[in-house]
Amino acid sequence: MALATALFRRARAVIPGGVNSPVRSWKAVGGGDPFFVRRGEGAYLEDTEGNRYVDWVMSWGPLVLGHADEEVVEAVQEAAAEGTTFGAPTEREVEVAEEIVDAIPSVEMVRLVSSGTEAAMSAVRLARGFTARDRIIKFAGAYHGHADALLTESPGVPTGASADTILCPYNDVAATAAAVERYGEGLACILVEPVAGNMGVVPPEPGFLAALRGLCDACGALLVFDEVITGFRVARGGAQELYGVRADLTLLGKIVGGGLPLAAFGGRADVMEQLAPSGPVYQAGTLSGNPLATAAALVVLRRLRDPDVYRKLEETGAALEAGLLAPGMTVQRVGGMLTLFFREGPVRNLTEAVASDTERYGAFFRHLLEQGIYVAPSQFEAMFVSTAHGEQEVERTVEAAHALRA
Ligand code: PMP
Repeated sequence: MALATALFRRARAVIPGGVNSPVRSWKAVGGGDPFFVRRGEGAYLEDTEGNRYVDWVMSWGPLVLGHADEEVVEAVQEAAAEGTTFGAPTEREVEVAEEIVDAIPSVEMVRLVSSGTEAAMSAVRLARGFTARDRIIKFAGAYHGHADALLTESPGVPTGASADTILCPYNDVAATAAAVERYGEGLACILVEPVAGNMGVVPPEPGFLAALRGLCDACGALLVFDEVITGFRVARGGAQELYGVRADLTLLGKIVGGGLPLAAFGGRADVMEQLAPSGPVYQAGTLSGNPLATAAALVVLRRLRDPDVYRKLEETGAALEAGLLAPGMTVQRVGGMLTLFFREGPVRNLTEAVASDTERYGAFFRHLLEQGIYVAPSQFEAMFVSTAHGEQEVERTVEAAHALRA
């Protein structure tokens, strides 16, 4: 029996569904048992059977420099040798915070946490505490982690926990304005992925983000950008740099942690000062600002100061987009994040995204996997480009995609 088959059998006995996060399952693409990863190197993954794959998932976004970047690995090893956690302030936490503040002009102060879920949950609490209001607006098809208030569809979320969460269609200014009209007086924040990445890549329509900014200003709510995916990916200053709209609070995760468990939320100093211990809004974390994570983060964030990195991500992303484009399909891309939708475009919101042909996507996933190329095991995710991907990886992927159509 293949090692992966045996491992998955053991995993299913002791881990629900055999995976520690649902997206790792290959159920949605009819892919059978998932592979088990043994190691990663640059743009490649190797599974327990010794197969090598071009990896376009890249741990769902964090690995902008590719797997096992030498400098990152060295920094983490050096940090580990000096102790893996202290629960007391360290110099690198300050340096990471300074890097973030330098990169994103709207972020004047920042707090480090360990996951995007925590960043979103804490930022919503802070927005509510700062405004002394309860309601929040979020968009259908967005994902902001799995805090109760931000999940509207799971059993186990008490009605009360999501009762103040109002859902609007993405890219729909009129519907959002109507919701603000109705709930604006009690509205703490509008929470938005400035480029949606969790229904496949759905860029903001021209004027959408600016309209949200205007709606927030008019009613005194905070504009919260979830840049967990877009932060340090679509530009060093995130989507807010790209689209020229300033958020009050920003959520970061994935790239900001250099591939280790580190995320952050930050923004206006007057808002952030409301956090304990300087203010009354409580938030805390034993492993927050973890020494290994900050070591990795610093290496990556410093390398991202080089504009060539973003030129390369754009170039590779554009080549992949051009190569994958085919009749009856749509590629939506912002910099180094893109989705091939199996439907005619454009895809502007969740309703349009779910009209994609997921059977065909499943066949695409399985075919690419056979050719040694790993893409997300779901239509509603992104392909993530890293600086380790180049012409060769793009060419192989494009050729395999064309062979499927031939
Ligand atoms: N926000 C966005 C936009 C995300 O894509 C994700 C995770 N994919 C999260 C928040 C939650 O982050 P984490 O998985 O680190 O909790």
